[in-house]
This record gives sequence, C-alpha cells and structure tokens, in this order.
Amino acid sequence: MPLNDMIAITDIPRDAATDRDAWPLRHAFKNNLMALFGTAMLACAVAAAVAAQWIAPYDPAGALQVTIDDVYAPPNAAHWLGTDDAGRDVLTNLIYGARVSLTVGFFASVISVVIGGTVGMLAGFLGGRTESVLMRFTDVVLVIPDLPLAIVLVALTSPGLINVIVAIGIVGWTGTARLVRSHTLSVKQRGFVIRAHAVGAGNLRILVRHIFPFVLPLIAVNTVLVMSLAILNESTLSFLGLSDPSRISWGQMLNFAFTRGAMSAGAWWALVPPGAGIVWVVLGCSLLGYGLEHVFNPRTISHHLSAVHTTAYKDANAARQQGPDLASFVEKTPEEGRDAVPGTKLSQAPVVLEARRVSVDFTSVSGPPAHAVEDVSFVLHRGEMLGVVGESGCGKTTLMLSLLRLLPAAGRIVRGEVLLSGKNLLALDERQMADVRWKEAAVVFQGAMNALNPIRTVGDQIAEGIHRHELQAKGTDRRVCELFEMVGLAPAHRHRYPHQYSGGMRQRAMIAMALACSPRVLLADEPTTALDVMVQAQILNLLDTLRRELGLAVVLVTHDLGVVAEVCQTVLVMYGGVVTEYAHADALFSRPQHPYTRELLKAFPDLSRPEAGLVAIPGSPPPPSALPPGCRFAPRCPDVSAHCLAAQPTLHALDGEHWVRCHLVVT
Ligand code: SF4
Repeated sequence: MPLNDMIAITDIPRDAATDRDAWPLRHAFKNNLMALFGTAMLACAVAAAVAAQWIAPYDPAGALQVTIDDVYAPPNAAHWLGTDDAGRDVLTNLIYGARVSLTVGFFASVISVVIGGTVGMLAGFLGGRTESVLMRFTDVVLVIPDLPLAIVLVALTSPGLINVIVAIGIVGWTGTARLVRSHTLSVKQRGFVIRAHAVGAGNLRILVRHIFPFVLPLIAVNTVLVMSLAILNESTLSFLGLSDPSRISWGQMLNFAFTRGAMSAGAWWALVPPGAGIVWVVLGCSLLGYGLEHVFNPRTISHHLSAVHTTAYKDANAARQQGPDLASFVEKTPEEGRDAVPGTKLSQAPVVLEARRVSVDFTSVSGPPAHAVEDVSFVLHRGEMLGVVGESGCGKTTLMLSLLRLLPAAGRIVRGEVLLSGKNLLALDERQMADVRWKEAAVVFQGAMNALNPIRTVGDQIAEGIHRHELQAKGTDRRVCELFEMVGLAPAHRHRYPHQYSGGMRQRAMIAMALACSPRVLLADEPTTALDVMVQAQILNLLDTLRRELGLAVVLVTHDLGVVAEVCQTVLVMYGGVVTEYAHADALFSRPQHPYTRELLKAFPDLSRPEAGLVAIPGSPPPPSALPPGCRFAPRCPDVSAHCLAAQPTLHALDGEHWVRCHLVVT
C-alpha cells in the first residue's frame, strides 16, 4: 500500500487546533470551572488584602474612643460585622487580617513544597545512596511533631512575621517529600521515561520535562493542604502569643475571641468572619489545586473518543496529495560486511549490525542470576528485516533491549559484542552510547500508549530526539512534519496529545519518532500488538516500505509467525534464551528443522490446509531462573531422547545459510 494512502484522518478544526496549539495550558485553564472558581475565590481574598487601606471602613491603627456599648456590639449600620472586645470593627480586622494569614500561608507552603518536592524528586529519581541519605533524614524530621518544633523555633528567635513563616515552612516539608518520592519512583518506571533515556535525554531534562509535570499535580494539591495547615499553625502560634502582635491576623482574631469571652457574650460575629475567611481561602486553594491537576494532565479531562469534526479531512487530503519527502532521509553508507558467526551468508548486502554471543543475566537478591539470553549471535544486513520469534518469556525483548543497552536495572550483559558502525556498543561509555541511540539505531517500543508521554504533544516528543542530536535544529518543526507525512499522519496532528490518537496512529507516531534522526537500524518490539488486523497490515506495510525505500535494517520482535512470513527476509527463533533456529524466511517456513519451529508452525493457521486444526504446544517455556539441564526444549519436545536431557545441543550450521540447535540435525 502506498504511503500516501495510509494517511490518517484529521478530526479537529484547523482554527480551533491552532488556538489550542499555541496556548494549550491557557485553553485548558479557561475551560476548567474548578480552576476558575478557585482562582476567583483566591483573587477576592488577595484583592481584599492588597486594597485593605482603601476598602476597610476604619483604620485599625487609629485611636479608639470606646464606650461600653462598643464592646461586642452586634452588626449594625456603622459596623457591618459588629465589633470585638476592644470595640474594634470586625470587618476592618477581617480585611487587614487577610494580609497576614495569606502571607504566612502562601510563603510557608512555598518553603515546605520547594524543600519537600526537591528532596522527594531527587531521592526518587537518583535512588541508591542519595535516596537512603535523604529519606533517612526525612524520617528523622518526620518523627518530630510539627507544631512543637515550630513553637521552639519561633521562641528561639523572635515572634515576627518572617520568623513565623520560616518556622512553619521548614517543619512542614516531610510529608511532601515522601509523597513526591513515591510518585517519582512510579513515574521513573514508565515507558516514556525509558524512551526519553534511550533518545539520549540527560538526567536534568528527564527530571524537568518528563517527571516533574507528573509530580506537579500532586504538588499543587499538596500545596493546598500545606497552606491550610500553615494558616492553622499560624493561628495556634498567635494563640500562644508567638505571632507579631502589631499585625492582626485571622488566627489572632479567633484567639482574641476565644480568650476574651466572645463565646460567653454570644458574640458570634467575632468568631464567624475570621473562620469564614480561613474556609474561603482553603476552599479556593482546593478548587484551584484540583483544577490545576486537570490543566496539567489533560488525560483526566478528555477522552480519545471525543467528538469528531470534519474539516480536518482537508489536512489529511493535502498531506496525501503532497506525499512524503523520502529524499530528505539521506541514506548513510553502511559498514562493509564482515566475517561473522551465523548470518553473513544470508545476504549480499553490507552488514549493518552484528551481535556476537550476547548473553544477559538478571540478578536476584534471593538466588543465582537468571540466564535470560545466552550466546545469541546474528547478522543484520542493509535493507534486511530480521524477525525474532518465540513464545513470551523466551528472551526476545531482553535481547532487543540489550542491543542498545536499555535493560532494566537488574539486567546485566555478561558476555558478547554488539557491533554497529564498527563500534562495539558494549564497550562504549554511557555518553557515547547516548550519541549512538536514535542517531544510528532507534527503538519502536512495545505498547505505544505507554511509551508516549501522555501530557506532552506527540510532535514535541518527536522533536526531543532531533534536539538531542542537534539535527536541523532550526528546522525541527519542518522535520517533524516530514516525519508525520512519511508515516502517513497528517502534520496537523503533531500538536495533539497521545490520548487523542487511535492505536494505529500512536504506532505510526512511534515509528516517526524512531526515524527522527535517520537511523540505519530500527529495533521494533511487537509493533503490532493489540492492533486490529487492518491496522496491523498497515503498520507492517509501512515498516516494509521504509525498509525498502530507506535501506533500513530492521529487527522485528514478534510472537506472530504470520507477521514474520509477510515482511521478514530472515528469521531467528528463540527458546529459553537461546537461538534454536536461524535461516532465510523461505527456508524456515518451507523446511523447518528444529522441533520447536515445527511445533510453532503447527500452532499457526495454514490457509492451504483449512482442515488441519491448530495444535498448541503443551507446557510453557522454562523461566530463566529454572532452565532445565540439556536441551531447553526437551520437556516439551516430541522427539526428545536421553541424549537431549544430558547435553545441551550447540548451534549447528546446515549449509551456511541455515543454523539449528538440535541433536537430531547432528546425529
Ligand atoms: S535436542 Fe532433543 S529435545 Fe532438543 S529439540 Fe532436538 S530433539 Fe528435541
């Protein structure tokens, strides 16, 4: 299918999209009632505090001429909210009191959240010794009660506004640190963070661009709680005489009312206004906090099945007529072929990637290491698509990730070489490796939804790899548009979020992302999983077209033999972490030599013999931590013999183009 025919349908009005694209946060904020209400409530309180000297009916510092009738006078025309025990106007105190309460609440919560957020993110992201030190210190501070510590700190200094703010701020950060650390640990494991690491993004960029936006909603909501606690703490300090006596605050008003007989005098008006002021501010912060969560995380407010609009067809049609600019992807000259273990005779084209005896272990605290991949060798030529097949748990994905050293923390490459452009990737330091990833070899990760950051537009995420490798720095947007056209997506979609894409569109976007820096090798891990048959065919056609047009060398990891039969030239069959058979696709499908391959083919529908049912292989692959002695397929093999149980077979070359690991082909 031509690329142009695969361009997806745009479903959003151009003008609306442009408006949203320019100011996505502003647009989201304007449409969020909670955020708007919260902002309005806080704005009222802040406006009253700022304009107190103009809107307050009396001067709180003015001389008082008080009579007995002015003490706890109920609301009247002269004092709309009545008076307190000293005959002062409650409304005036309420307005001026907002200044101190808001100032203490805001700045104390900022101090707490900045300290707690920084400690939590660093601990969660860096891990190891840094995490241990930071979290043990947090635990020590956490066991000290907040309020007594704040009282001691203020008492040791002097009861002034700044001292109160600092004291409340530095005792309230521990809860934030623990929350943020937990959330950072969770986000750090997400596919898009691993993908950003693979692209070559540094720690600071990953922390700021990929993790912080996910922590921000938590911080925003937490700030509300910290702020309300700060206001309550300020009230308590005022009650104990540890606040600035020259500045009236809502806490001080409550304190005066409680301690000077307002309850017994029935003067509710001395209590309710400051209490209402506190509730007003706390509620405003809550609404703003939850509203901000939606603003920063658009996935919480819209769904990928949102309304479809029609004008977007124009963009799709325009892109379809224009066609992709394949010429912009200049083919690089691959390395000349090199003599190697299995695979060199499978193609006359130059070798691009070569794996030699790659072995991967997963370490365990409770036992010996598990051998997930063992002595895997293959050769990938220019323009070749190599299918790596086998059941789940056979080591396919581990092998693929090990090629670019993207294994999870417990994974260790214990032996082997991965040769790309003449370099052994396993001998490079991390900085050199970051330069190789995406520029020379890129990955299409499994599960596009997990591999895409849901709160960043797809175009922005594709541009990340381009920026990292400083390719066409000034023409990044044009380059992103070219990539979209190349994979059959309308360029207008680049400003949209992953949840606004269909499954097929997300997979295309992942392929566009992998092509961003014109790599010569593409590692695709189950790129068609969970897609329906039609979309699956489109994605496979796309990969095949890119392979032919661009000379890409592709490693396609899949458990689907039908996919392999359709697009791959060579096939590597894996079982129990080792290669069991390696050959041309034609040879493997027409003359399978290994019993495991034959059993796999029986489980694959044969349209030429519809009467032959599907035959499942009994049992399941052995876990890497409990590999059987001898042949790893022996417990399930229909041809097993005593020899198979005693000795593991070696990979045997049948004719220089076909390799099989089975005792049967040797004896
Ligand atoms: S070595 Fe033996 S058990 Fe293993 S696949 Fe061959 S025949 Fe089966």
